[in-house]
Amino acid sequence: MRGILTFDALKKAVKDGSIDTVLTCFPDMQGRLMGKRFHAVNFIESAFKETHCCNYLLATDLEMATPDGYAATSWEKGYGDYVMAPDLTTIRVLPWLEGTAMVLCDILDHHSHEPVPHAPRQILKVQVEKLAAMGYDAMMATELEFFLFAQSYDEIRKAGFRELVPVSGYNEDYHILQTTKEEGVMRPIRNLLFDAGLPIENSKGEAETGQEELNIRYCDALACADHHTIAKHAIKEIAWQHGQAASFLPKWHHDKVGSSSHVHQSLWQDGEPAFYDKHDPLGMSDLMKHYMAGVIAYVPDYTFFLAPYINSYKRFAKGTFAPTKTVWSVDNRTAGFRLCGDGTKGVRVECRIGGSDLNPYLAQAAMLAAGMKGITDKMELAPPTTGDVYVDSKAQNIPRTLRDATTTLRGSSFLREAFGDVVVDHYTRCAEWEQEEFDRIVTDWEIARGFERA
Ligand code: ADP
Repeated sequence: MRGILTFDALKKAVKDGSIDTVLTCFPDMQGRLMGKRFHAVNFIESAFKETHCCNYLLATDLEMATPDGYAATSWEKGYGDYVMAPDLTTIRVLPWLEGTAMVLCDILDHHSHEPVPHAPRQILKVQVEKLAAMGYDAMMATELEFFLFAQSYDEIRKAGFRELVPVSGYNEDYHILQTTKEEGVMRPIRNLLFDAGLPIENSKGEAETGQEELNIRYCDALACADHHTIAKHAIKEIAWQHGQAASFLPKWHHDKVGSSSHVHQSLWQDGEPAFYDKHDPLGMSDLMKHYMAGVIAYVPDYTFFLAPYINSYKRFAKGTFAPTKTVWSVDNRTAGFRLCGDGTKGVRVECRIGGSDLNPYLAQAAMLAAGMKGITDKMELAPPTTGDVYVDSKAQNIPRTLRDATTTLRGSSFLREAFGDVVVDHYTRCAEWEQEEFDRIVTDWEIARGFERA
């Protein structure tokens, strides 16, 4: 694929002067890229083996706070180092930054050089390995929805995040005329990401003013999460280069539709789709049915990994294309899970619960674990629901708040078995901290509502 470099090709590019900078990056708990910008000569001479970072980077929040309560690191433990080990199969050029390449890193313990269990890339790798031991490969695609605003991040911040101006004036779902007006930003996003080695399929207008979607071709789970993380990062950088702002906040306004990240999933065996059975009326193999039964049953346990912030839960609203129930249905956008490509080799399940703020490594790992549990326990899939699922009173609700999702995460024996106590305790603390931070803040809404009238 063009844009991907072997280590030898990188060395050549550094020698001929076309690459002078190498970004060494890893995805943090929030799914952001963290790392360093290396002079390319230093990278090819030494840093390609390993570099280092402070271990608070996997125990912080969006504000880079140092919350207490993490077993892995703390002020008491002195916030030491992690090893960042470059995965040399992930070297790629970043054509939107001059002379720059990037490599993704795995996070290792500084002393033992063992993988750090709560690093998102490691969490997904472990589940992929378990699936491989069962004889299957996971093929995944995560859709990226976001809003584009006409002002820059700095202008928006200076204005206190008020008076936000989306780049369009009306709902632009599949709208070619409106999206033509956005090609100044969206065309470079598609083309430059493609040139960075991401198999971009398309972009489209989404169902709200200024809302966009980017689709990347499905591939193995780890590459899919890498693609998602790089694409999300690039979208922000390219929008910034054009004086605009891209936001992946799932719900930026209560009267507007939110942004999601649907996850398409299928299992394969020896290069053939293992979810397909031509004798089944919907083309679904027993394997697929067990997988889906597990993925659906354990939604409450892993909702935090699909909706990690207070704001994520504002998205789950009736009549907005974002689901409120965990059931499945056939090509019906009101349910938490939608069967796509039924009756074909492309048969797959789309999880519609995740918000645009999910960390793709964690979301995919949790769903793979739930699917494997469904397969191992031969769990039975309930029949599909039909009609408007929003009003189906029998269907199980998605946890309504971060507080609810934290409780189900903390108490999940399934996740404790699949991820290990160390990982579940770490992310439970992450969820608790987010809630604690929100709980101490007095919001604008409270002031406006009660200042005079309370
Ligand atoms: P939608 O109508 O939801 O936009 P698309 O046909 O555009 O559906 O497909 C959505 C995503 O599903 C794409 O990113 C595509 O690569 C992915 N996809 C297609 N086939 C499979 C499969 N067998 N397994 C996983 N993902 C798949």
